[in-house]
Amino acid sequence: MSVADGARLTPMMAQYWDVKKAHREAIVLFRMGDFYETFHDDAKIASRVLGVALTTRDRNSDHPTPLAGVPFHSIDTYVARLLRAGYKVAICEQIEDPALAKGLVKRAVTEVLTPGTASVPALLPERDAHYALCLAARGDETAAAPIGFAFLDFSTGEFGLGERRAAEACDIVARYAPGELFLPRACLATPLELELRRRFETLPISFLDDASFTTRIATDALTKHFGVLTLEGLGMADLPQGIAAGGALLDTGTRLKQARLQAVTRVQIVREADELVLDDDTLANLEIFRPLRGQDPGVTLVHHLDACQTAMGSRLLRTWLRGPARRPEVASARHAAVEWLVEQPETLEVLRTKLAGIGDMERLLGRIAADRATPRDLQAFAESCERLPEVALALTPATAPLLLELHGGLDPLSDLAEFIRTTLVEDPPAHLRDGGVIRNGASSELDELLAGTREAREWIASLQESERRATGIAKLKVGYNKIFGYYLEVPRGQAERVPAHYIGKQTLVNAQRFITPEMKEREQLVLRAETERVRIETEIFAALRQRLAAHAERVRQTTTSLAGLDVLASFASVARKRDYVRPRLTGGDRIFIRDGRHPVVELLLDAAFVPNDVDLSTSGAQILLITGPNMGGKSTYLRQVALIVLLAYAGSFVPAREAEIGAVDRIFTRVGASDNLARGQSTFLVEMTETAKILNTATSQSLVVLDEVGRGTSTHDGMSLAWAVLEYLHDRGPARPRTLFATHYHELTVLEESLTRLRNQTVEIKEMQDDILFLHRIRPGRADKSYGIQVAKLAGLPAAVIERAREILAEHERMEEALGHHAPATLPKEPPPRQLDLFAAGERRVAERLRQIEPGSLSAAAALDLLRELRGLV
Ligand code: ATP
Repeated sequence: MSVADGARLTPMMAQYWDVKKAHREAIVLFRMGDFYETFHDDAKIASRVLGVALTTRDRNSDHPTPLAGVPFHSIDTYVARLLRAGYKVAICEQIEDPALAKGLVKRAVTEVLTPGTASVPALLPERDAHYALCLAARGDETAAAPIGFAFLDFSTGEFGLGERRAAEACDIVARYAPGELFLPRACLATPLELELRRRFETLPISFLDDASFTTRIATDALTKHFGVLTLEGLGMADLPQGIAAGGALLDTGTRLKQARLQAVTRVQIVREADELVLDDDTLANLEIFRPLRGQDPGVTLVHHLDACQTAMGSRLLRTWLRGPARRPEVASARHAAVEWLVEQPETLEVLRTKLAGIGDMERLLGRIAADRATPRDLQAFAESCERLPEVALALTPATAPLLLELHGGLDPLSDLAEFIRTTLVEDPPAHLRDGGVIRNGASSELDELLAGTREAREWIASLQESERRATGIAKLKVGYNKIFGYYLEVPRGQAERVPAHYIGKQTLVNAQRFITPEMKEREQLVLRAETERVRIETEIFAALRQRLAAHAERVRQTTTSLAGLDVLASFASVARKRDYVRPRLTGGDRIFIRDGRHPVVELLLDAAFVPNDVDLSTSGAQILLITGPNMGGKSTYLRQVALIVLLAYAGSFVPAREAEIGAVDRIFTRVGASDNLARGQSTFLVEMTETAKILNTATSQSLVVLDEVGRGTSTHDGMSLAWAVLEYLHDRGPARPRTLFATHYHELTVLEESLTRLRNQTVEIKEMQDDILFLHRIRPGRADKSYGIQVAKLAGLPAAVIERAREILAEHERMEEALGHHAPATLPKEPPPRQLDLFAAGERRVAERLRQIEPGSLSAAAALDLLRELRGLV
């Protein structure tokens, strides 16, 4: 059936279609009594995604209606599943009491939930933010044009905006890992949309009216929200694109009826100069949040670094890892705080114990603002507030400036706890609708109501006893159900004892149920009072909630401080346990690490981890070219340097004996041949795209980590590219980024002779007959062998294969020797050396020879000689 068939619809289905027409893009959950129903196509989707039965309404009519419903009390779980599958959900409630309604109950959509803006608990990662991200872009701008972005975590009210280059759109999305992305409608079918869809396949993208992004409307949304006249005071006046994105996002929130926006009390301005940029590939390659392959979270950095005691701390830690501080003074202030805590282990332990008692006040605040808080949420909030003084007390001896600042930010919020305590009962029920939430003395109206019905309630409470005594029926029971209200139940076989004034109501197999006029009278009194009680309690609760929400900014100030303290304490705890040191951030160009370790690999190894040094600088050793056997530890070394730099700027101590880290604006990594068939690109194309991005974006302050660039194609092409990339990074390009470059092309080591700031490094091994021992130590020098066959042997390849491979290798080396290609150290700077393909050696030799000649300069006789020579080569 379509919407157009409205003429023959029942009044309720007509009401449904009115709602559905206004919310075509969403699954409409239509409240009917104790269920939320879905119809037609929505029902088919709901049945598939939620695993609930698909049934049919009006089966025998001309228009049977597919139907699938879910019980109202577990709505959150079902909604979360639909949102996770990328659907939007419109909740259509009964907005009048069905018992009082004349005719059809009025219904209206009270909330539209979308994957990135909903805060259904089952959808939220407990220890990570859940952002809605909005980009202000046309979609076809040039790489360098500015685009705006804004992010908003509706569960906590965290909101911020900024601007970046259009080429970095994917990095922004990777940085915030949103639950949903909002774009202006103008971006539909533009290169930007296509690129985003390819890179982030499962990310739901929603389009907003272009008008929301216009300066006037966006500015209005922001000024209205923050109650200011102009945006000057918010520090964003120079960010027109950021304003467009921020305004559009707030506007969307408002239109989605998100009361939660009340928790948005401040805006964070994200400037490029403030954050060390980790692009999409770097976040993935360094396995900061997710493993590169497989599902094991145990290989990620965050898994081992997060020792936070509160969910608020864990979320902030992730924020600091995604966007480490670029300004050394910010990270250094964190180091000083961590150092103080490391040196005061007792205070550290007390602080951590106290923090562990604090609930997720940020999300509780979000729920309070959204009118979603339950009585128990408020109780938990009060309990957390009451523990704040202990946290503050633990910190009294602190001297580090950042600790003092965070200590100062801890508002004890005792007045808020007091409001809650004096309003709610000690141990409130889970839901307001259960009644009994508000304490005696909190409201005279409520107290009077309860006093007025006390006699009746007590009478009912004692009824079972008194009737048993009066009738002599020992097993007489008083029960209650929705249909009959209170009743007296007498077991079968006791009928002769039932007094005459009992009125029979129902006969069951083993019992009979009765009522009496007195009972019904009191019951009416009590039930009416119950309804009235829930009404009054709801009002009091709403007033309490509003009162708390009005202090949102004070709460935010405190949760921000708590989260900061928790992360610093977590850094300190990890530093003590794993022997990390405080890095020195010099602002200079040197990156010097003595005895550095990989923060994750060192924990996963059975054997001892071998620490290594690094010494890089723009003017000295700008490029380290690392050659060495497979399995030697090149990749581990590369990543450990990048991770130590990242940790240092995030504010953590680092796994090393000493670390001096100069200025870094970005970390780029291209590690391993990550075959990304899902992106629909070949491995080699991905590899080159990433390399191109690095060469085009790196500055002299960047740290570039390249592992095996050029491996995804033929030896000649790959090595030539690697060669040219190194030259470009050294001095042909506009910048001279500090670079770590691991490669199996040993021939590249000759570059050390011509590129003055390139240093060869190799991984030490011990050779024992046919076997090798990996020492995992990096030292100056170059490898001249790959040891691939030895590694293959270690991997358990059949002996016959290993033997045959050795024969082939020996033959190959003999041929190279004969042709004089074995000594790469003598190669000229320009064209990279050419290698032989094993099975076409003759043809290669001919080709080699042909490349050397200049046909125009040959006489006929010389050409004939050459022909004879070539014939001899095959
Ligand atoms: P390939 O060239 O095959 O990619 P690789 O040289 O990059 O190898 P890695 O993958 O870094 O080698 O390391 C191989 C293994 O060696 C690691 O899984 C780890 O177990 C071990 N290893 C690496 N570095 C160290 C170290 N510094 N101390 C101890 N063990 C190490």
